[in-house]
Amino acid sequence: MLTRLEKIKSAVSLKSQKDIPVVPQITYTTHQLTGVKMLDALKDAGKMAQALIAGFEEIGYDGIYSGWESSFNIMAEAMGCEMKYPENDVPCVSRGIIKNSEDLEKVKVPDPYTSPRLLLHLETLKIIRKHVGLDVPIFNYIPGPLTLAGLLMGTDSLMMNIIKKPDLVHSTCRITARAAMSYAEAKLSCGGDIMVVADPTASCSLISPKMFETFSFPYLKEIFTFISKKDGIPSLHICGNTTPILDKMADTGARIIELDHMVSLKDAKKKIGHRVCIQGNVDPSKVLLMGDPEEVYKVSKKCIEDTAEGGGFILSTGCEVPLNTPVENVKAMVRAGRET
Ligand SMILES: [Zn+2]
Repeated sequence: MLTRLEKIKSAVSLKSQKDIPVVPQITYTTHQLTGVKMLDALKDAGKMAQALIAGFEEIGYDGIYSGWESSFNIMAEAMGCEMKYPENDVPCVSRGIIKNSEDLEKVKVPDPYTSPRLLLHLETLKIIRKHVGLDVPIFNYIPGPLTLAGLLMGTDSLMMNIIKKPDLVHSTCRITARAAMSYAEAKLSCGGDIMVVADPTASCSLISPKMFETFSFPYLKEIFTFISKKDGIPSLHICGNTTPILDKMADTGARIIELDHMVSLKDAKKKIGHRVCIQGNVDPSKVLLMGDPEEVYKVSKKCIEDTAEGGGFILSTGCEVPLNTPVENVKAMVRAGRET
């Protein structure tokens, strides 16, 4: 019997699998299982870890996403952006801080061990690791360089600057890539296994494949080379439609590619399944949040059917599991992976 970590490593090595590892991208939604209030857990590593561990123990999936709100938001805050903290939702950046190259000089790469919100996430990871031991893989979100640049500039300004001030975008991405690497290094030191760089702004739903190649690809590649050198498992998460850039995503050096629900797993398997492990892609809202266990089970089985042959597959959601998702639905996903 393989341990959970061995199951993931076997999928990453593209070995054929008896059991399909199941790792839904569930973080803050686990607070529903504990009675811990979202805002309280945001300020307390113990409570955050308690919720994430409760999700793992109650639902029984094969890996834990450690952390809570998006890594690019906490990093943007650590770099000087103001945040909004809504009562029952995840925090978000209220406005950007970079308009020109002078502003850029004031932005520093934060030290994850002294920046309060980054440190809180490191502490959460340490608590989880101590609790679950070494056999459970821990996934960690790392800010995608282009997405973080978008928060520092404001996403609308980023889109304009890609056309009008490409040099400013590149200079900003050089800093955001450094911030991502420093955070990944800290997460690896604190017991993280898989470093999932989340770069939703690099999606073809927002920018062209050519722009991806110019403004996202080189920085992702640098970050993944760094993570591999530090013995972490690099993974790439880009939301929305990524069909036109699948090959390029596999070229970044990521060992796992997380695909959103609008990407055909069958196509992805054909195009990149022989090079990287594919993770995905049950529709988080239409199926997992709004469907019933039977539908979730059916859709999960279809994902397995389309992708698992020959190995290199992790059954997951296409993106973050939304608030108020019924626990029974997530359990149905896990069941689908177990009965293969
Ligand atoms: Zn996503």
